[in-house]
Amino acid sequence: MDRHHFYRDTWAEIDLDKISRNIKSFKKHLPDHKIMAVVKANGYGHGAYQIALEALDSGAELLAVAILDEALALRRQGISAPILVMNRIRPEYVNLAAENEISLTVFQKEWLLEAETYLKESVRPINIHLKLDTGMGRVGIKEESELLEISSYMKQTAVFHIEGVFTHFATADEWESELFEEQRKRFINHIGLLHETGVKPTYIHSANSAAGIRKVKGPFNLVRLGISMYGLAPSLELKESLPFPLEEAFSLHSELIHVKKLLPGDTVSYGATYTAKEEEWVGTLPIGYADGWQRRLSPGASVLIRGERMPIIGRICMDQCMVKLPFKVDVGERATLIGTQNANKIQMDEVAHLAKTINYEIPCLISSRVPRVYVKNGRISENMNVILNF
Ligand SMILES: *Cc1c(COP(=O)(O)O)cnc(C)c1O
Repeated sequence: MDRHHFYRDTWAEIDLDKISRNIKSFKKHLPDHKIMAVVKANGYGHGAYQIALEALDSGAELLAVAILDEALALRRQGISAPILVMNRIRPEYVNLAAENEISLTVFQKEWLLEAETYLKESVRPINIHLKLDTGMGRVGIKEESELLEISSYMKQTAVFHIEGVFTHFATADEWESELFEEQRKRFINHIGLLHETGVKPTYIHSANSAAGIRKVKGPFNLVRLGISMYGLAPSLELKESLPFPLEEAFSLHSELIHVKKLLPGDTVSYGATYTAKEEEWVGTLPIGYADGWQRRLSPGASVLIRGERMPIIGRICMDQCMVKLPFKVDVGERATLIGTQNANKIQMDEVAHLAKTINYEIPCLISSRVPRVYVKNGRISENMNVILNF
């Protein structure tokens, strides 16, 4: 391991070659769609900047984030591709968005009226994507009357340009869903209304990864690709019948910092919840819940050492946890907590299951204390260490 730029024995590895292949598979699957790479939440924990660069290099043409700060960070890092902020921003920040050529999501007429009072002449018009709520019940224009009001306002103002119109599915990751079909129809119907009033946005989009995988039918020309770009299936249901393989880009590693022999009756960690029944070997790993290796993962989780599965025992601490070893292993031996060693693998879905959550949440929660190591063309290309600002 090249430890340039970090000094601890725990790191996440992000394989950019896999990100690239996942995007290319999607491009082949949906050849008539543009790909908007979703890099919100620090690229689902993988690193927004590095993922954005790789995605744009591999066929994605636009980026999406959740909040304005994330978009501004990408601009500061020199990314010039179109970026959509998918959540509402405060109207008073509209100039900041405009100056940085950031597209905004809008679903309230009041927002437009207020933003117009702030927007400087020099930065007009600003690109917006209208968000329709067709059944997600989160944000969006719901009623036809609201939609018509907004569209007639749009026609008499030169301040805003409707670049896109979109919606978001609540159940695209379930094969049999009436709501999915209902949402699809409502959206198509609303696009028809917009067209009738003369509004013809460049981008019409509804698909997240799940809807993209199942090729949602309609007049759509863009997919907002998140979880599957990272190589993860949107649900266990879809995972069983993916039309092409996805490659998990994120792996998590650590190294044993201590190895000792327990005697019968010796206990391990807070609460002494683990007691040795016989003489046994135990190793200590310098990763804990402050790194996002959640306390609830023990008992249950295992790690790979020398290609073999070994269970975590006792409570996971803030900075460390313990592993039961079948034999004496040397300090410095690598442990893989997520990823593959030899023929064995621990998938994100296994960790998610143990944490009683979905795969999305696991890499998002691996904290900024864990340095990210990037692999490109099979070699380490870059390290990122937020603590030391590298
Ligand atoms: C996060 C997000 C996506 C990406 O969804 P995935 O399931 O990760 O592909 C798409 N659209 C919106 C509105 C989102 O918030």
